[in-house]
Amino acid sequence: MGLTDITARIRAAEAAQGRVAGSVTLIAVSKVQPLPRVEAVLTEGHRIFGENYVQETAAKWPAFRARFDGVAVHMIGPLQTNKAKQALDLFDAIHTLDRPSLADRLARLVQARGACPDLFVQVNTGAEPQKAGVLPEALDGFIATARALDLRLTGLMCIPPEAEDPAPHFAQLAGMAARNGLDGLSMGMSGDFETAIAHGATHVRVGSAIFGARSTG
Ligand SMILES: *Cc1c(COP(=O)(O)O)cnc(C)c1O
Repeated sequence: MGLTDITARIRAAEAAQGRVAGSVTLIAVSKVQPLPRVEAVLTEGHRIFGENYVQETAAKWPAFRARFDGVAVHMIGPLQTNKAKQALDLFDAIHTLDRPSLADRLARLVQARGACPDLFVQVNTGAEPQKAGVLPEALDGFIATARALDLRLTGLMCIPPEAEDPAPHFAQLAGMAARNGLDGLSMGMSGDFETAIAHGATHVRVGSAIFGARSTG
């Protein structure tokens, strides 16, 4: 466990698939972790982090950005439309674009700023009622809607159902991305990132395996 170990496992998984070393981006998920743990990983040289909450990110990352160069923070939690503007100030990427109203709001804001974060469409591959994400059968239409708004999409993201084998969900996401001409695949967490890399993940979101268990969240 820890950054060095997870990075080594990612490099090994890339090599096992014949993929270029470094082709998988590690997003270190720092939500609700004590600040000293996050600082330790920054000091080790890591710069790409994931957060789930706008409020927490606003409280935490401006100070770290002032002290460490080259930090990128990715939004991986549900994003309320009324927090979209603040999110664009805080995040370099958003992995949870999941509905037309949010696409609409982001498109307007992005147009006004002339800059767009990397955007991933979250897909509810397990069609779980409690989970966010576009349903697989609605995905192609949603992507067309987002593109019609001039949103430049980077890829797709999923969180497979907890009790299921994640592999078919990763394979499904990869197929949907290929079909829509999207290169980015945000999939794989502490328990399954190697499986995700085997299915083509470009971004893995690993929290507890780097930082230790979270007390909440
Ligand atoms: C918390 C979270 C993660 C990290 O989970 P771990 O199991 O701690 O690696 C990844 N993705 C999302 C969307 C999360 O909310």
